[in-house]
Parts: sequence; structure tokens; C-alpha cells
Amino acid sequence: MTRTFDVVVVGGGPGGIAAAAVAAEAGLRVCLVDDNRSPGGQIWREFDRDGTKDNPHWREFARWTERLRRTRCEIWMGSQVVDQPAANVLRLERDGEVLDVGFGKLIVATGARERFLPFPGWTLPGVTGAGGLQALMKAGLEVRGKRVVVAGTGPLLLAIAAGLKGAGATIVAIYEQAPLRKLAGFGFSLASYPAKIAEGFGYARKLRGVPYRTGCWVKSAEGSTQLNRVNVTDGAKEWAHDCEWLACGFHLVPNLEVPLLLGCEVVDGYVAVDAFQQTSVPAVACVGELTGIGGLEKALVEGQIAGWIAAGREEKVRAFSTRMKKLQSFARRLDEAFALRDELRNLCTPETIVCRCEDVAYSAAKACGSWREAKLHTRCGMGPCQGRICGPETEFLFGWRDTGVRPPILPAKLGTVAGVLDPDQSDASVLEQVPT
Ligand SMILES: Cc1cc2nc3c(=O)[nH]c(=O)nc-3n(C[C@H](O)[C@H](O)[C@H](O)COP(=O)(O)OP(=O)(O)OC[C@H]3O[C@@H](n4cnc5c(N)ncnc54)[C@H](O)[C@@H]3O)c2cc1C
Repeated sequence: MTRTFDVVVVGGGPGGIAAAAVAAEAGLRVCLVDDNRSPGGQIWREFDRDGTKDNPHWREFARWTERLRRTRCEIWMGSQVVDQPAANVLRLERDGEVLDVGFGKLIVATGARERFLPFPGWTLPGVTGAGGLQALMKAGLEVRGKRVVVAGTGPLLLAIAAGLKGAGATIVAIYEQAPLRKLAGFGFSLASYPAKIAEGFGYARKLRGVPYRTGCWVKSAEGSTQLNRVNVTDGAKEWAHDCEWLACGFHLVPNLEVPLLLGCEVVDGYVAVDAFQQTSVPAVACVGELTGIGGLEKALVEGQIAGWIAAGREEKVRAFSTRMKKLQSFARRLDEAFALRDELRNLCTPETIVCRCEDVAYSAAKACGSWREAKLHTRCGMGPCQGRICGPETEFLFGWRDTGVRPPILPAKLGTVAGVLDPDQSDASVLEQVPT
């Protein structure tokens, strides 16, 4: 049976939790939908497990999840939005079942994922995303005693390396592709963000003794069946490290599938929103990483703004406006400081795989003139990830843009695609339940 709520929030990370808590506290009937096992999103992943209390972000997690728990918000975990079968209705897949949920207002907080870039050897076992290795470790992977090279770009490299070191891994080195000049400028601009500086010092303390080099990147990874060596360069010299793991990620890209499905306007890679987090689509707000990669605090503030606006409490939002402007400017500075260098476009050999799902080599992809042509001729982007990995990659390598999505936006069962609903439930009756 289809249920309908005043507000549906998609994404159970900090942005979605804040939005759902505020809207539910204001008396609205709220449903929070997320595809993970438990709320928390990326930064608070698995924080409900024992042993996470010493994480610097745990207190904030506990405060917000407790606030949410005290409301009557319904939390639907393990539920993935795959389609919008009718206006104000989302189709979910949960435990292999199809389920529709109706909404009066929708707040989308689907966060971001890591950007991967290909280089020779990047598909070897032992090479993961930086956040990918962090997620594996949180899920129980033993890293104690393992030698790990952390590389790529973005401030997350430090957070992730600190976490791995804390779990007993030996961090061989951290290689940041951004040049020192840009990072120094970024560092000075943090003077007005004392919390970020404190966080940075915290990581520096935990990573004492670990080499951190800027303007360096991984050129290739080696191993026959498993990674055993990483070759690094600064553009002039090359050197190598023996290691068991390479954790390599290139900042983050927003998960735009749901906003694109709904028709929200996207500008410069992020969902365009007004000062109230409202998108170009009526009754749809977006918060968190979707509107700019800016971290935890930005997601929490934007979530609260969207929650208050859903409840018609515009006056509550004024208090956030100065902080909000600062956080948005921080997100822009991050993008500038950690912009990808041109040399990263020239790492692939003709044989390097660019689409891992469909085994498409660099030479085959390069022969195509557009994303669409590559899809039709090589099946690039047509596998299970549906372009979530190779889309941002080929955009950087070849300048292709893919701005469209087709339902199902994530891999779904055939029954879900066919729209198998409860026989008593038609789309018309779903719409009748939507509050106006
Ligand atoms: C891999 C990774 C590791 C990170 N590690 C750190 C760290 O160590 N320290 C740090 O400060 N920051 C870290 N970040 C950044 C941090 O996650 C964000 O700043 C913060 O979580 C943003 O919150 P959010 O609410 O916007 O999104 P998120 O926390 O990403 O939450 C989005 C949620 O939406 C869900 N979702 C997405 N699509 C759908 C769908 N179709 N249907 C249902 N649910 C969906 C996702 O599964 C996720 O649970 C990391 C980010 C990533 C991607």
C-alpha cells in the first residue's frame, strides 16, 4: 500500500537527518528514506556500532540522531529511490519489494560520492577509493599492519589517513595532487573558520611522522593478481612504494540522480537552489553536498533551513543567513583549491580500462565524440554503475557532459521497473492522498 507524508526526505546523512528532525519537530508527518542499513550517510557511517565514540564527529551524530528519534518521523532504511512514477510520488525498492511513497514536499539530501580517475593498474585488487577503503574498514576490514599509500586530492585524504592509522595501518605517504601554492592560499582563507583549522590540526597530530607531499600523484599501480607497488610522480621525478593498499580518491561529486530525475536545474555541476534551499521544481528542496561540496556543517545548516521552510517557518531561517553564506563560500574555495591538474588526463595507456563495468578501454572510449556515442558504440556507462563511476571520469578526461538520467536511476529488479504495485493501489489513488 502506498503511504503519503507531508514531507519525504531522501538521504539519511547529516543534511537529511537535520531536515527530517526539524520538519517533524514542527509537527509535520515526515518520512526519511535511505538506502543504507542505518542513518548517518557517509561521514556518520556505522556510527551506531560500538567503538565509534572516540571519533571527533560522534557527539554531533548522537545529538542529531537522538533529536530525530524523539520525533514521530518514520525512518525507512534499506530503501532506494529508483523512479518517480507520478507527480509527488517516488518509487522505492526495499528488500526487493517495490513501494511507492507520496509527498507534499520533498527534501533531497542524497550526498556525494568519490571521484575516481583511471591510471594503469587502478583496477588491481588492493586499489580502492580513499573513502572506499574507509568504508571497508568501518565494515570490518582489518587494516592493522598493512602498508597503505593514500593519494588523490581533497581534505578527506587527511581524515581518511588518520582513521586508517588509528586502526593500525601504516600510512606510507599521503600524496595530494594540488600544488602547494593553491593549498597555502586555501589555508590562509580558513582564518575565519576556526573549527576547520582545529580539525586540520587534529589530523596533523594524528598523522605525525607520515610524509604528506603536495603536487604529487600516482602514475601507475603494479602487481600480478594483487597490488604490490605504487609509482608516484611530481611531474619531474618518479619513485615507487611497496604497499598492500592504495587508497586513491579525487574529491567528491554530488549524487545528482534524484534531482535530475525530478527535473531540478543543475548549474556548474550542483543543484541550483535559492536562499531557502528550494530548487527550480516546486515543492522540491535540495541540501548538503548536492548544492556544493562543503562538509558536515553546511549539510546540517542547509537541512535545518529546508526543514523549517517545509514547515512554513521562514522567520527561523534568517538566523542562518550569515553562516550559510560563509559555508557556501567555503565550498567554492574547496573546489578551487583542489581543482584537478591537467597531467591527470594523460596517465592512461590505450589499454587502461575506463569503464570497469563493461571493460571499455581508454582507446575505445577516446575514439568516441560524446558520452552518448560512447554508450552506443562501446557500452561505456551501461553497466551496473550506470555511469556513476565512469561518468565523472570521462567528463574530466574528454570533456563529455551527461546531464540526463533515466529510471530506474539505480539498478532495480525487473518487477520494480515494470511498476508492480499493490493491485488495490492505482497511481490515481496515490495522488488523491497527496496533501495540497
Ligand atoms: C566516501 C566518503 C567518505 C567521507 N568521509 C568523510 C570523513 O571521514 N570526514 C568528513 O568530514 N567528511 C567525510 N565525507 C564527506 C561527508 O560525507 C559529507 O560532508 C557529509 O556527509 C554530507 O552530508 P549529506 O547529508 O549531504 O550526504 P551524505 O552523508 O552523503 O548522505 C546521503 C545519503 O543519501 C543516500 N542516498 C543516495 N541516493 C539515494 C537514493 N537514490 N535512495 C535512497 N538513499 C539515497 C546515501 O546512501 C547516503 O546515506 C565523506 C564523503 C564520502 C563520499
